[in-house]
Amino acid sequence: MKRLALLLAAAFLCPGCGGGSAASEKTCKETQQIMGTFVTITVVADDSRRAEVQAAVDRAFDAMREVDRLMSNYREDSEVSRINRGAFAAPVKVSGWTFAVIKRSIEVSRATDGAFDITVGPLMRLWRDAEKAGAPPSAEAINDALKKVGAADKVLLDEEQKTVGFLVEGMEIDLGGIAKGYAVDRAVEALRAAGVSAIVEAGGDLTAIGKNAGGRKWIVGVRNFFRREGHVERLALEDRSIATSGDYERYCEIGGRRYSHIIDPRTGMPVVGAASVSVIGPDCETADALATAASVLGFRRAASLPEESGIFAGCEILFASCTHGFRGYLVPDGAQE
Ligand code: AMP
Ligand code: MG
Repeated sequence: MKRLALLLAAAFLCPGCGGGSAASEKTCKETQQIMGTFVTITVVADDSRRAEVQAAVDRAFDAMREVDRLMSNYREDSEVSRINRGAFAAPVKVSGWTFAVIKRSIEVSRATDGAFDITVGPLMRLWRDAEKAGAPPSAEAINDALKKVGAADKVLLDEEQKTVGFLVEGMEIDLGGIAKGYAVDRAVEALRAAGVSAIVEAGGDLTAIGKNAGGRKWIVGVRNFFRREGHVERLALEDRSIATSGDYERYCEIGGRRYSHIIDPRTGMPVVGAASVSVIGPDCETADALATAASVLGFRRAASLPEESGIFAGCEILFASCTHGFRGYLVPDGAQE
């Protein structure tokens, strides 16, 4: 079973800068590897603005690299790693960006009954170790890790000092469910400041800014692997983001069983039921976090969140599951050309 994956419909994007066709004179594409994934920025640029647009693209990539530098769990010197090492002993001062993502994550936790929770770190570690050991963790080990989970009441934020503290020893945050979306937003900010229309795409999560080279909405293909092979739903997007969770190419295998990389913070168990969720929203950070939360909550509970909670206003959830088939497919108002 595969995921509901996002593909930019290649037919609508030209292969790169500098080509001789009329289309390539107006649309340029550049790909770099950041945050362990491929990031592609596609921009509309006529010849007279090429240098200016390229400078904005460079700033956009730089912003995403900065997010990775600050928030990666894989870098010993990132702010997140510094928090995880020191925030129980004393509050750790962080940058405005890291503080903003943590603050937003806690808001999302509160709005999702704790389904989204950046303090899943100890559980992620437990399941990673279980994969190495070839056996699932014991109930006791899971219960022990659960005592260190709870962003809403165990993370202490000081807005003025921009510090992060932990209430329980051994807590660890993991921004893997939201940082990619935030990075896309920072790239979008750099491009918007230069008045550039573009698509910023990072490993399937993306934002479409303005209109494409033809002056129309950008066309994005959403491939639903639960339907017939190769079926692509097309969405027309303008100033909207889309993020996907429930990636079945990212899982761990223990004793021949596949476990999701998304953990239910309320039980400590990986999410089961093989669901895949895409969220369309006004910004990529919110879409990214809500897609992760919806993977935990399931369709029935998640579907009402955009109406219930102000922070998800304007979000639409597209949901597929291998056990129930395609449960819902919501196309946002105005997304169709
Ligand atoms: P995504 O692909 O955006 O759904 O993010 C998945 C990643 O988020 C995982 O690899 C973990 O780093 C982290 N994560 C796992 N479970 C949760 C959860 N319940 N809430 C927040 N982040 C999570
Ligand atoms: Mg996410």
